[in-house]
Amino acid sequence: MTSQDRIAVFFHPAVHDHDTGRGFFETRPSALLELAEPHPENAARLVNMKAVLERGPIAESLDWVEGRAATREELLLFHDAAYLDSLAALEGEGRHWITGTTPFAPGSHQAVLAAAGTTVAALDHVWSGHGKIAYALVRPPGHHAQPAQADGYCFVNNIGVAVEAARQKGLRRAAVVDWDVHHGNGTQEGFYADPDILTVSLHMDHGAWGPSHPQTGGAEEIGEGAGTGANLNIPLPMGAGDRRYLEAFDLQVAPALRRHKPELVVVAAGQDASQFDPNGRQCVTMTGFNALGRRARALAGELCGGRLVLVQEGGYAPSYAAYCLHATLEGVLGRACSLKDPIAYLPDPAGGGR
Ligand code: ZN
Repeated sequence: MTSQDRIAVFFHPAVHDHDTGRGFFETRPSALLELAEPHPENAARLVNMKAVLERGPIAESLDWVEGRAATREELLLFHDAAYLDSLAALEGEGRHWITGTTPFAPGSHQAVLAAAGTTVAALDHVWSGHGKIAYALVRPPGHHAQPAQADGYCFVNNIGVAVEAARQKGLRRAAVVDWDVHHGNGTQEGFYADPDILTVSLHMDHGAWGPSHPQTGGAEEIGEGAGTGANLNIPLPMGAGDRRYLEAFDLQVAPALRRHKPELVVVAAGQDASQFDPNGRQCVTMTGFNALGRRARALAGELCGGRLVLVQEGGYAPSYAAYCLHATLEGVLGRACSLKDPIAYLPDPAGGGR
């Protein structure tokens, strides 16, 4: 076994301190209903993800590393100072809804800092040559966070900050592949005029969703200025399934990365494209996630010495997302999906991913 057959998993317990409360799914409680349900972006989902990695078949191939809080200097590499100040000022203000779906509460700020810093540490681990593959198990997620705007449960763009931090250490060209079911609008926005950071997003074709998310995720959003051509949106129709996701990866994502010639591949690895996610309608199976993980690893091997960093984004089915995460990392390790899918009863007729 070589070091390439191991994944360094970065985690910090402060990510659990972000308490999103209960309501009508992702919004405030309804007076017409008796029971409020947990907000979908909750600590429990990461508790289960951590557990399946510690207890599942790939446990012996994972090396756990304690994360850390991001510094203000690191956050400023991607975010505006006034925006960061406004977030910090909310700490101690009680529960505050920054958008209609995005609450911020006491404890949230330290979770946000832990998520960003732990992602910086994971990416630095690979860029500095300590290992080939790292995964940052973090929340709150980051890919909707724009330089001066929270959106879609996200406050700080964990990947954006981490990529910028690595540029301070000599990274020149990177590619971010976002297969979270939602458009990675924050990452797109931060690097929109940047020719060196290729941003690719595969997502449900949901369009813009209001003032916090004006980007459409459409194929016409290709970057601007010197960055024209360095943003690739791949909106996929509802119910796309394994075959469509893998076709998109093979026919659009992989060629774009080959043209870009990155020194590092970063994956915004949500599991909310799964067939049981309450936040997505894309019907990807565990087998499909396994195949996506396998492809990401192969592409990093082909293009940049195997340097691959995966960062947790969405994934809101509290049990199934954890299993899909395990399937993904098993694919990254070059192995087939060994966990039986416990709840799938409508297998993709195309046969999933191979
Ligand atoms: Zn998502």
